[in-house]
Amino acid sequence: MRPNILFIMSDDHAAHAISAYQSRINQTPHIDRIAREGMRFDNCFCTNSICAPSRATILTGLYNHENGVRTLVDSLDGRLLNFPQLLRASGYQTALVGKWHLGHGWPHDPTGFDYWNVLPGQGDYFDPVMYDMGTKVQMPGYVTDIITDISLDWLAQRDAEKPFLLMLHHKAPHRPWLPDAAHAHLYEEDDLPAPDTFDDDYHSRPAAEAARMRVDRDLHAEDLKAPVPGGLSPAEEKLWKYQRYIKDYLRCIAAIDDNVGRVLDYLDHEGLTDNTIVVYTSDQGFFLGDHGWYDKRFMYEESLRMPFLIRYPKEIAAGSVSDAMALNVDFAPSFLDWAELAIPAHWQGQSLRPLAQGHVPADWRTAMYYRYWMHLDAIHGVWAHYGIRTAQYKLIYYYGEALGTSGSTDLGTPKTWELFDLQADPYELTNLYDDPAMQPVVAELKAQLSTLQAAVHDHPYESP
Ligand code: CA
Repeated sequence: MRPNILFIMSDDHAAHAISAYQSRINQTPHIDRIAREGMRFDNCFCTNSICAPSRATILTGLYNHENGVRTLVDSLDGRLLNFPQLLRASGYQTALVGKWHLGHGWPHDPTGFDYWNVLPGQGDYFDPVMYDMGTKVQMPGYVTDIITDISLDWLAQRDAEKPFLLMLHHKAPHRPWLPDAAHAHLYEEDDLPAPDTFDDDYHSRPAAEAARMRVDRDLHAEDLKAPVPGGLSPAEEKLWKYQRYIKDYLRCIAAIDDNVGRVLDYLDHEGLTDNTIVVYTSDQGFFLGDHGWYDKRFMYEESLRMPFLIRYPKEIAAGSVSDAMALNVDFAPSFLDWAELAIPAHWQGQSLRPLAQGHVPADWRTAMYYRYWMHLDAIHGVWAHYGIRTAQYKLIYYYGEALGTSGSTDLGTPKTWELFDLQADPYELTNLYDDPAMQPVVAELKAQLSTLQAAVHDHPYESP
């Protein structure tokens, strides 16, 4: 029988909050098990670091300018081809449980699933309303447990004669980071280390300086869940806020990890482990105090990188690691490949199956294209940008306009470029774009960026 596919995706879970990725701040033993018994991808990147767009790309195998979900306020048109539709048509049983965030009602409800039960919008952590095949039901309990319970119930009633695709999408650990009672006191006695770039001064990066996602300034009462103590210096107050933020974030992840354990145990118990591809990923990365920030959106490493762990004992060597560049646009073709189905010619990613088998094709990509469209979004004020990342460099262009994009603010911002040498400056603190010695590199990267942009049918910003 063709392999089952269990796709577990959380929301905003950065790779550097997973111990298999050498987290300095937490342990995730159950998620780590997938890495230990499978492969860890160290360079898996999203093509637009926000929720809805990344989800749309994962389903459709297309970049956001092609699938119509460029920002958080866009909805997915369910008539667009997606990989669950193709798996289902070929005989898979398919289900989606948890976060959807791609719109509701015709034609935005999930398509391609025999069963779906999703949170409306962001959904709630406690006693969430869910849309069970479109019917509104309030579920008592904690959202991470509920999503797992519904998923296990669906697995238990499935037809064991057919392979399954289950997309298990956690809402956690998305802001406002509400932990359950079982983990509410985790880390209470600990002082978690702040990242090396916690006190970034944004020197040479005006877009970074302009963003409103700073731990010391932009977290509010709902995030902190306690009044700021008096008598603290600014530095002490910033650290206090960081502890409040990061501990709740990690407590939410601890509940995910426990529930991943429940699902892996179920597969073991049912004898499904050998013939099931298990993926753990997140829709994008997140700043965990890095650059003094929470949130995502930027093309910087912490936000760009997705965790991607995959286990399939029949094909993937235990404890293996790939540093090849993988993208969220690759997920859909990969699953079709494993299901022995043809990959639609207009899809824009490549199957990761050879990489997972330990073989990097000679023509595998060495650069990736990124675009964040949501210019000056009302909350975080991040400037729209596109760019290219290679193994050594990253070139980013903040083109300074909304271009009529949904969810954006139609105000001009400075048109600026950033260049980082990721080997010399892995934290991306020094913008080398104006360095005379770097001009040959800039020219080469601009040419590559144009080529990549054209290859995915996107267009450069043209001054009016
Ligand atoms: Ca997200």
